[in-house]
This record gives sequence, C-alpha cells and structure tokens, in this order.
Amino acid sequence: MRYVRIERQGRPCWGVVKGEEVLTLSKPPFDGVEYDGEKLPLSQCKLLAPCVPTKIVCVGKNYSEHAREMGAEPPGFPVLFLKGLNTLNRPDGALHAPEFVTRLDYEGELGVVIRCRAKNVKAKDFADYVLGYTCLNDVTARDVQQHDGQWTRGKSMDGFCPVGPWVTDDVDSSALKLVTRLNGEVVQRGNTADFITAVPELIEFITASMTLEPGDLVATGTPAGIGPMIPGDRVEVDIEGIGVLKNQVI
Ligand code: MG
Repeated sequence: MRYVRIERQGRPCWGVVKGEEVLTLSKPPFDGVEYDGEKLPLSQCKLLAPCVPTKIVCVGKNYSEHAREMGAEPPGFPVLFLKGLNTLNRPDGALHAPEFVTRLDYEGELGVVIRCRAKNVKAKDFADYVLGYTCLNDVTARDVQQHDGQWTRGKSMDGFCPVGPWVTDDVDSSALKLVTRLNGEVVQRGNTADFITAVPELIEFITASMTLEPGDLVATGTPAGIGPMIPGDRVEVDIEGIGVLKNQVI
C-alpha cells in the first residue's frame, strides 16, 4: 500500500493511494487501515510529509564512496545523529536557507517509517516494526556543519527534511536504486545494496539505544555525489518502487 498524508479542509488526514485516487482514513494506519468512505483525486490533493515523527534518526556515512568523498574512511559502526522536528517538510515544499549559509547541499536518502514502538529489536524481526519506505532529502548547510565541528545547526534548519511523496510497504529495502536529480540532471546514483549497515541491522542498532515510536523516521544515509543547490534549483529524490520527492530552493 501507499500511505499518504494530505490536507483536507485545512486539516491533516491519512489516506491510501489507489491508482489516481486517495481513499481517506479515519485514523493513522499503524495498526490497520480503516477507510472513512471518501475518495479524492490524487492530483488535487496537497500532500504533507507522510509521517509525524517524535524524532528523525539519521545515519551518517552509510555508503563507503560517500564517506571517502567526505575525506573519511568508512566507519566501523553506524554513526547516528538527529534532525530537529522543525526540519520536517512536505513534497513540493520550498527549501530555504538563511542568507549566511554559503553552501546548501542535497542528500538523497531512503527513509524508513516506523509502525509500532520498537525497543531492542533483533535484525531478523525488523519488518514487524516498519510501516514502509519513503524518499527523503537530508538537506545540509555544509559550511555550517564544517564550521561548527558537530552537526546540529547545519542539519536542523527549518524545512531541511522533505519527505515523501508517500510511504510504501510494497518494496524490499535490500536493493533499491536511488537517484537524485538537480534541475533534471542526475547528480547521485546509488543502490541500497551498497549500504555499509543495512536496514535490519540499523533498526537493531538504533533500538538498542533508543525506543522508536510509531511515525518515527530513520534516514539511512546518502550515496556519493553530494553537491550544492542555489535558489531556483529543482531537486528530486527518486527511489525505485517508491516514487519521486520533488522540492524547489527559493
Ligand atoms: Mg545524510
């Protein structure tokens, strides 16, 4: 299924995409789908971020080639950091950095949305805890990240985490092609088969330290090819079997 969140009469509402329609739900889909009987044309729906996390847990350097382009050796374990909830942004939402930012980067990533409370999960059981997968852009003020020596400010400016267009449970996360396009040109080409730590082991690693809640979001790391965006640029994160997340820099 493809789960979306849309704005209906000014309020957020969950739905399931079927063909060109959204079938709206009477409650979030975490413990089963309950339709409320309404159908809306997908093309006329304003899509929201398809999750409401209590935290956004990100993995740094989960592709060897990206670690090397950042001047680091691939780490021996997942390096975690958090993005603030103020970063959550929607499909087609505008990306904007304060004027003092001199380098604003895209990072196309696979996002994992958690279905139910997860603590001390074993890798073999990870699927029981996952609602599905989505596209995510871990937008980064690279100059600020490097200046500060740690990542909070550079990773957590307002709107720096667009997610969507929906969450799907119809894909296997172990080998998905990921492409990032800037103004239509391919700038990142990766495959989740190249993760240093794959999704099942990531869920085990994260939940050994922190409880994940329904709707929490895990950003799984970006492949090589990161680069800058400027106002006017259109950025797309396209993951096989999921869809395309589109945003514009203003
Ligand atoms: Mg990242």
